[in-house]
Amino acid sequence: MKTINDFNFKDKKTIIRVDFNVPLNDQFEVTDVTRIQSAKPTIAKILADGGSCVLMSHLGRPKGKQEEFSLKHIVSKVAEILGTEVKFVDDCIGDAVKEAVDNLNSGEVLLLENLRFYGEEKSGDVDFAEQLAAWGDIYVNDAFGTAHRAHASTTIIAQFFEDKKCFGQLLAREIESIDKVLNNSEKPVLAILGGAKVSSKITVIENILDKVDHLIVGGGMTFTFIKAQGGSVGDSICEDDKMELALEILEKAKAKNVEVHIPVDVVAADAFANDANTQVLDVTEIPDGWQGLDAGPKSLAKFDEVVNACKTILWNGPLGVFEMETFSKGTIALGHSIENATKNGAFSLVGGGDSVAAVKQFGFADKVSYVSTGGGAMLESLEGKSLPGIEAILN
Ligand code: AMP
Repeated sequence: MKTINDFNFKDKKTIIRVDFNVPLNDQFEVTDVTRIQSAKPTIAKILADGGSCVLMSHLGRPKGKQEEFSLKHIVSKVAEILGTEVKFVDDCIGDAVKEAVDNLNSGEVLLLENLRFYGEEKSGDVDFAEQLAAWGDIYVNDAFGTAHRAHASTTIIAQFFEDKKCFGQLLAREIESIDKVLNNSEKPVLAILGGAKVSSKITVIENILDKVDHLIVGGGMTFTFIKAQGGSVGDSICEDDKMELALEILEKAKAKNVEVHIPVDVVAADAFANDANTQVLDVTEIPDGWQGLDAGPKSLAKFDEVVNACKTILWNGPLGVFEMETFSKGTIALGHSIENATKNGAFSLVGGGDSVAAVKQFGFADKVSYVSTGGGAMLESLEGKSLPGIEAILN
């Protein structure tokens, strides 16, 4: 696996695919700088070598050229975080870009305009990719968030660089972290899958059963499993058409010697609201009019035991409706358990969607081993799929 550490970038122009798809408020200010910060080590190494950086990214889902999706809004924030001036050109191909790239000196950074102002980016157009490729002697991909897309800047472009292409530091760490969980893991291995629905996690569960010793199933998925086994789940979220599948998963887990842990008690509410009346109930005895919205204390004690007995921990999906304070306690308690296990030497990876939001919101981000930056890319990796953006660098 070639990374930026295998290159000396002195006097080289480097075209880097970063993921600067950051959230903006209605004043067009960046409200979460994580993705910009994550790209900094790669850019810093190239500048320190004496190279120059041409940065390309998408932002949002523009339909053609739409001012509100311009990367010009983030230039000052990128400059502030990198601690260096950042030049900007209001296109990503064409004469203006050529001039800006030609005038770029060693140690300088140039940010191109939103790649998705061109439909050719998402369609993976080869001509468009070749035009982007002209802006660098070396191609670096550091955008994990789009590594599962065969877009022009993430995948197609790589063919124009033969051996002059590599992973940035962020993407390399993502690949290593996933590998540490799925392939080179220290046992016992635990996967915690929470979130709303079985249907969105089924491929992950199926793939992960071959990799883990323990599986915690939590969140809204709990109730499909409980009802399938004959429990009463009241008004809890439940996918009746996935009950058969839930039973099959339990069978498969048994055959593979995977211990499955499902909540035994829940915090149930009489409405889907933060100020609803609540009571702790046995998970199999939830009456109509009540819905389980968080894991209960007995479940959390059991999960704490399991987490602390494991050496490798993957966490995807919250244990409850963490967006509401009343139902956030299970997710927070689980975060503390993982924090503790990590302190005692376990490797913990948090990835894929809402669990990342939860660890950030509750301050666990620097207390676990690694927090993934890619939602969809992470899920596809966990599903066992190879990602085109990664393959394009490897091949
Ligand atoms: P996902 O994107 O699949 O990881 O699902 C995350 C969402 O699942 C969050 O918005 C949670 O509020 C929601 N969730 C977690 N537990 C429950 C539950 N018991 N009932 C309903 N929604 C839940």
